[in-house]
Amino acid sequence: MIKDIRIAIIGAGMGGLALASALSRLGIQAKVFEQTKNFTRLGAGIQMSPNAVKALRGMGLEANVRRRGFQPENWANREANSGDMMFELRLGKEAEALYGAPYLQMHRADLHSALLEATPPDWLHLGHKLLAVDTTPSGLSLHFENAKSIEADLVIGADGLHSIIREILLGPSPLNATGRVAYRAVFPASLMKAPIGPCTKWWGEDRHIVLYYVSSKSDEVYFVTSLPDDDWKDESWSAQGDMTVVREAFEHFHEEVRQALSACPHVHRWAIMDRPSLKQWHGNGMVLLGDAAHPMTPYMAQGAAMALEDAVVLARALAKSTNLGSALGIFQQKRSARTAKAQAVSQANTWMRAETDPGWCYGYDPWTEEL
Ligand SMILES: Cc1cc2nc3c(=O)[nH]c(=O)nc-3n(C[C@H](O)[C@H](O)[C@H](O)COP(=O)(O)OP(=O)(O)OC[C@H]3O[C@@H](n4cnc5c(N)ncnc54)[C@H](O)[C@@H]3O)c2cc1C
Repeated sequence: MIKDIRIAIIGAGMGGLALASALSRLGIQAKVFEQTKNFTRLGAGIQMSPNAVKALRGMGLEANVRRRGFQPENWANREANSGDMMFELRLGKEAEALYGAPYLQMHRADLHSALLEATPPDWLHLGHKLLAVDTTPSGLSLHFENAKSIEADLVIGADGLHSIIREILLGPSPLNATGRVAYRAVFPASLMKAPIGPCTKWWGEDRHIVLYYVSSKSDEVYFVTSLPDDDWKDESWSAQGDMTVVREAFEHFHEEVRQALSACPHVHRWAIMDRPSLKQWHGNGMVLLGDAAHPMTPYMAQGAAMALEDAVVLARALAKSTNLGSALGIFQQKRSARTAKAQAVSQANTWMRAETDPGWCYGYDPWTEEL
């Protein structure tokens, strides 16, 4: 195990907190620096496929997410207007036995809280926006917007789509704006006149919408869209959308979609962005993880899952190696092909459109992957 190394994780999102949880389970110390001053419960759902649940299992979080999440019986892929089934993936107990863990749908904030509970509280430093990193004779010096500075030997960029660590490591490069927007909202199921299916992707010609429950009691519903929109480039959590626009965009969709949208009071609007796969994930004592390394469109519901898997593999590589270069080399070598495949499949938006075997994705366990 690499000993006495000062580790700074930048970003307390899904990947950063998962890494902190995994490191603490393996007896490695770290500090987490997050720009946000307070976490708020923002309205979004998240699908945790069996590979993601296996990552959480090794952090001691399986019971927690099972308690909070909704376990769907199936993932239905239906034609937008007729509702004809294009492909049905059986989930529930069947998938649990097949892939070794359940498929869960959750409120994103519930997943984040679970990860937060597994992170040693004294590791977390909120209100620390990283601005710059300098190389010094004794390591790396990190400078934050609040005028504080710290020293570290290893800096992990778990800082998402706009990663500053990525920019420091590889130079600036623009995000790929896909010309599509995700409208998304979580709202009380009691507002709907009729229930929805447990998890359905409704496929239209140039747009789709996914609807599912996000709580174990089925009392909260989530939807997320992909709609063409070349003008909207903002992907901030605060950007509001207009439900009238969403209802109009899906007015030719099946009654189940229309009744759910008519019940939803508010919506957020989010430009969908990605980047091509990276050839280099680490250098100069810095390494990238999650969206910082491999942002993807949300069409496979695997972005956070891949960040959780990265976190486990990186923590295990650090626990296994005695040398930092070798640990980071193992990490990239073990993760790059799998995440590049997820990026490509997500970009193509073909996942589950027709018969799909998700075994390569859901069968993976980052805790048992040979390093
Ligand atoms: C519409 C949509 C739906 C999705 N649905 C799913 C799904 O169902 N399942 C799934 O697995 N994935 C899904 N994803 C993807 C998932 O949300 C992301 O892949 C995941 O959040 C990536 O985790 P991360 O830790 O890399 O980044 P983030 O979760 O974005 O965390 C990055 C953190 O770094 C912080 N930060 C950034 N810059 C700095 C700085 N300079 N200093 C300090 N802190 C900083 C940020 O504040 C943030 O807390 C979806 C994405 C979208 C857009």
